[in-house]
Amino acid sequence: MKIIVLKFGGTSVGSINRIKKVARIIKSYLKKYKVIVLSSAMSGTTNNLINMSQKISKNFPDNEYDTLVSAGEQISCSLLSGQLLTTGTKARSWMAWQIPILTEGKHKYSRIKYINKTKVLKFLRSGGVPIIAGFQGVDKNLNITTIGRGGSDSSAIMVAKFFKAERCVIYTDVEGVYTTDPNKLNSAKKIKDISYEEMLEMASLGSKVMQPHSIQDARLNRINVEVKSSFVDKGGTLITKRRNIINNKIITGISSTDNDAKVTLLGVKDRPGIAASIFKPLSENSINVDMVVQNISSDGKETDLTFTIKSFDLTKTKKIINKNKNIIFKRMTFDKNVSKVSIIGVGMVTTPGVTFRMFQALAKKEINIQVISTSEIKISVLIKRTKVTKAIKALHKEFNLEK
Ligand code: ASP
Ligand code: MG
Repeated sequence: MKIIVLKFGGTSVGSINRIKKVARIIKSYLKKYKVIVLSSAMSGTTNNLINMSQKISKNFPDNEYDTLVSAGEQISCSLLSGQLLTTGTKARSWMAWQIPILTEGKHKYSRIKYINKTKVLKFLRSGGVPIIAGFQGVDKNLNITTIGRGGSDSSAIMVAKFFKAERCVIYTDVEGVYTTDPNKLNSAKKIKDISYEEMLEMASLGSKVMQPHSIQDARLNRINVEVKSSFVDKGGTLITKRRNIINNKIITGISSTDNDAKVTLLGVKDRPGIAASIFKPLSENSINVDMVVQNISSDGKETDLTFTIKSFDLTKTKKIINKNKNIIFKRMTFDKNVSKVSIIGVGMVTTPGVTFRMFQALAKKEINIQVISTSEIKISVLIKRTKVTKAIKALHKEFNLEK
């Protein structure tokens, strides 16, 4: 029995007309596959439910939050199943507790641990199409749970895992993952296939397409994921393991951020443990420090230290540093008008000179690099925000992503 999992996002089931279209897409798979469908709530529904809870209390109880917000998926699944049934396809909606899909962890942020296959498999064998509610689960005490905003991607990946599906198709409102944000550069190209690792690194591009947690779930379980549009009938992007990718490009994509801020501490008394005493209280307050540079002090006494954080953490960061009695420095400066531009590609592991080419391409455009950080498959630079589009354009060209 060849099983395929099809997941439809909020905009894909956003209206009755869209639901009818989705039903036709489902039917087109039935000759070749046993189909399991996962659906998100109709777009806007989850937000509306959350807004209502907020009108009752800003501290709406977490367990009731889960019961409330999971209701959106019940609506979309029953409508979709009803559409299939009335047009001659055997279908049935399933809420997580009916299967059950068991979760662990706190309300609002539970994780799927186990899916009981018995009833769904029986229904599949009888020729039915199960329409399963994404985003929700049930814990061992039969409380309804949810798994975090955008969680139906993760639900689909986990269903694909437990049912050993051949593939998981994520239907959404974009055609796939692009070499860079098409809104910033119109020569951006759709990527045919990309590795899990690259997709995770492409945070700013990737996370608009799929929830990052779900990509991690797919990577851990080696699930082939195809992202494509439910609006146009075109090939999408395949997210798969590195070995499956035949592609001679060094760089797969370029991403950029627009919510970073740079903090510089000037004239920091240099002694062992200084970096630890700066960053420990930040991490204890859940502030994520991203890029770091520390200059070598010329006299061995004082140094300058620069790091980046998310801009929404800036006020908190200032307070924590000013309160920190374990560090001595002359002055603290900030810059919110910075962006991180990253080039990502597994190809750079085996290709020398990528860093040089990146820096040279930026230098030619007179773009000043303020901070640099690298990983095995990514090089990031921090630059002035006003130069981002220019930088992306130059790098896109340098690494032949137009072709
Ligand atoms: N409906 C949920 C949300 O809006 C889950 C999802 O869309 O994946 O977050
Ligand atoms: Mg969604």
